[in-house]
Amino acid sequence: MPPAYYHPPPDPTNPAFNLEAYMAATIGGVDYSNEACAAMKAGRFEESIALHQKALEHKLRFHPEASIQAAISYNGMGEAMLRAGKLQEADEAFHKALPVREGDGPVLDAAVTRDNIGQLREAQGRFAEAREIRIRGSGQQMVCGYYYCPNSRTFAQRELKACGACQSVFYCSKECQKQDWTKRHKPLCQARQAEGQSSNQGAGQ
Ligand SMILES: [Zn+2]
Ligand SMILES: [Zn+2]
Repeated sequence: MPPAYYHPPPDPTNPAFNLEAYMAATIGGVDYSNEACAAMKAGRFEESIALHQKALEHKLRFHPEASIQAAISYNGMGEAMLRAGKLQEADEAFHKALPVREGDGPVLDAAVTRDNIGQLREAQGRFAEAREIRIRGSGQQMVCGYYYCPNSRTFAQRELKACGACQSVFYCSKECQKQDWTKRHKPLCQARQAEGQSSNQGAGQ
């Protein structure tokens, strides 16, 4: 039987169950998660990381680390870490979320985490791996590479258009490609091209 990552609430009829503690942990988890998302939207990444960590502490009182509940926090934390430039930590957080989300979560959540890892690999200059992790969902389980894409749904690879230069990131529309180019992808994609040119020149000398 595959592992069930959705961790159900505890049995309230169990005499050892502390309803008050469970409610406090649940409410704390939700409140800190909401605050973490607000901080992320405002561009306060360090604060967002700390708030996600607090949300996670609350969730882990009643849910295992490999649960859908914890995976939401690990993914959100990774997104904030990525934008704060903490690449190694983001890598660890995303890889705690990914097996859970690919194993038992909604396909959209798994696709979002794969695209986050794609963004991380771009930031590390590892473009082939960025492409590889994204097209793992080529069937019908990819998201648009523009993080703020208005279409929060999954696509098949053939429905998306790859960046012509690096072929590592995929978009649902020209507008999304343009937005992501301006806001995120341009310096990464250009650094990749510059690197390719210099190594070619080196080889020719
Ligand atoms: Zn899009
Ligand atoms: Zn590119």
